[in-house]
Parts: sequence; C-alpha cells; structure tokens
Amino acid sequence: MTAYGIPVAGWRVASNASEAEKAAAEIGFPVVVKADSESIVHKSDMGGVVTDLQDGRAVRSTVEEMEKRFGAGGLRFFIQEYLPGGKEVIVGAKTEKDLGHLVMFGIGGIYVEILKDVVFKIAPVTTVEAQEMFSSLKMTPLLKGVRGETGVDQQAIVEVIERISQLVTDLPMIQELDLNPIVAFEDRALVVDARISV
Ligand code: ADP
Ligand code: MG
Repeated sequence: MTAYGIPVAGWRVASNASEAEKAAAEIGFPVVVKADSESIVHKSDMGGVVTDLQDGRAVRSTVEEMEKRFGAGGLRFFIQEYLPGGKEVIVGAKTEKDLGHLVMFGIGGIYVEILKDVVFKIAPVTTVEAQEMFSSLKMTPLLKGVRGETGVDQQAIVEVIERISQLVTDLPMIQELDLNPIVAFEDRALVVDARISV
C-alpha cells in the first residue's frame, strides 16, 4: 500500500507477547491486536481481532490468549493503531475474464456481504469514474454526512480507488484484492485490513 501511496494505520509485526508490548508502545496506545496466520482468513469471526487495548498489560494478555486459541505454530501478531469513530468503506479488485480487472467500491466492514452496497468499474478507472463510484452507493448520503453530521474525506477515498486501479493495472497477476475496511474520517481515510491473492 505504501508503495502506491495508499495511507494505512500505523502498524508493526510481533512474534510474541514481549515484542507485541514493545510494538504497541512504539505505535502509541490505544492499539489493536490481530492474529496473523495464513490459516486465518476472517480474523474477527475467530476472535482474532481485539480492538482498543489501552496498555502493555492488555496487549500481553491478548497475545497470550490468542496463542492459546490458535496455537503458536506460525502465528504472528499484527499490532495496529486503533482508529475509532470512522466510517468503514471497502475498495477491492478482481480479475474478470477477457476484461482485465474490475475495481470495486462499497460500504465496508463486517457487514459488506449483507449490505451488498457496492459498485464496479473496469480498470483503469479515471478520476471522474472514481468520483462516480463514490457517489453511486445507496449509502453515499451517509458517507457525505446526514443531519449535521460531518462527512468523510471524499477526495481521499477517490484517490484510493484510483491508486488501486493503477496497482492492479501494473500487476496483472493479482487475482483478487480487498481493502476492507478503509476507515474514513472527515480529513483522511486509512486502510486497516488488506488481503491480496495472486
Ligand atoms: P477481518 O476482516 O479479518 O475480520 P479486520 O482487520 O478487517 O479483520 O477487523 C475486523 C473489524 O474490526 C473491522 O471491520 C473494524 O470494524 C475493526 N477494526 C479492525 N482494525 C481496526 C483499527 N485499526 N481501528 C479501528 N477498528 C478496527
Ligand atoms: Mg477485514
């Protein structure tokens, strides 16, 4: 993501509780701890995501609990800046036979499969198309802010859509890519979970 100028929440990888505590202190509290293993796809379904950890002791006990739950073999821990209070969106891409890649934008988070509020365009996606994508969800008014609520940083999200379009255009071997969620605020939008398959 960094190579393509896509903003991400601050992160470190740790392989045990002590490293996790140190990483959390470097990032700054509160943090999130995520179980990082090839065999865990939907982390939160399995108790592999714990948010809003306030101190080193909480980080340590979370890591130890995950080691018990998942077994220590090959398990690492992803320590991440906790970003509360944003709106969750998804940007993704997938290959489509004879078309190259489709780029996707929608309402993100753990409800993405239920809400199915998503839109697709064929890559490469222009700036105007990315703006159209942002504007065409059923939930777009929610992203723009209703009843005096502040909206999210539309420009930041449009830029992520364009940058992902560029990334999959440059890297045709990518089969599927999901940034879910991107946590969007009034003045920025940061990726907190990314998955790429080739
Ligand atoms: P998975 O999709 O594998 O279950 P995620 O990393 O997407 O795991 O985390 C699941 C949910 O936890 C997210 O949709 C979001 O609501 C919340 N979450 C994850 N990381 C953060 C973070 N850094 N700040 C705030 N909320 C987060
Ligand atoms: Mg996710």
